[in-house]
Amino acid sequence: MATTKKPGVRVALVTGGNRGIGLEVCKALAAKGLDVVLGARNPELGEAAARTVGARYVWLDVKDRGSIEAAMKTVAAVDVLVNNAAVYPAGTVLDAAADTWREAFETNFFGALSLCRAFVPSMIKRGYGRVVNVSSGYGAFAEGLEGPAPYSLSKAALNALTAKLASEVKGDVKVNAACPGWVRTRMGGGGATSSVEEGADTEVWLATPPASGTNGKFFRRRKPIPW
Ligand code: NAP
Repeated sequence: MATTKKPGVRVALVTGGNRGIGLEVCKALAAKGLDVVLGARNPELGEAAARTVGARYVWLDVKDRGSIEAAMKTVAAVDVLVNNAAVYPAGTVLDAAADTWREAFETNFFGALSLCRAFVPSMIKRGYGRVVNVSSGYGAFAEGLEGPAPYSLSKAALNALTAKLASEVKGDVKVNAACPGWVRTRMGGGGATSSVEEGADTEVWLATPPASGTNGKFFRRRKPIPW
């Protein structure tokens, strides 16, 4: 369980950190010397994953307000927030069930929104923060909003949240979105073209930019892409 903060070291909270891209982001940020708090909804899987990358574990189900409040008490000040947790439900606008829409938006959009509302105010107060919303090209109008409708539209909303929140932050606080590409994870499948290391690279880069770094933009392979 996450209890102690290492003095003078930036604290990074990663949601959905127990596997896939989230776990790789935790590993890379820990290797850069950050104090990484790996959030996961399953304590057994989360604890085990945290041990493998030298991170602290915190129970975090992004759909559960009580879990977010408990994490706020345990972790307190977060310098870097990576909103990575997501689900990939199938369906079209017309055939996906109402519960499927809710699951997609509660996880992929409201989860990230709640985490931002929980941790960004203290970033602004302390004058430093980095938020990375792990999005997808499927959420980009510029790329045709491809993919299953509940996923695509929830990621489009996450992109809109990124742009809007970036316009509200002050000081050295940056809010950006990243598309990891097509990555070999449970979500991406074995036939995907990128490794988890390649998928995590842009998120890690956005989690640690200098004060002059970018704000309110969408990136893939460290290059800006249109919304
Ligand atoms: P993944 O392997 O399926 O992992 C998803 C992670 O999200 C898991 O740790 C899962 O936890 C967690 N999660 C789901 N619902 C949660 C909840 N309510 N609370 C907390 N954690 C929750 O997916 P991935 O490929 O690593 O995807 C990571 C991010 O990259 C996602 O935002 C995804 O949309 C984005 N992305 C991926 C690809 C790709 O090709 N893989 C492409 C574009 C964008 P459990 O283990 O408990 O289920």
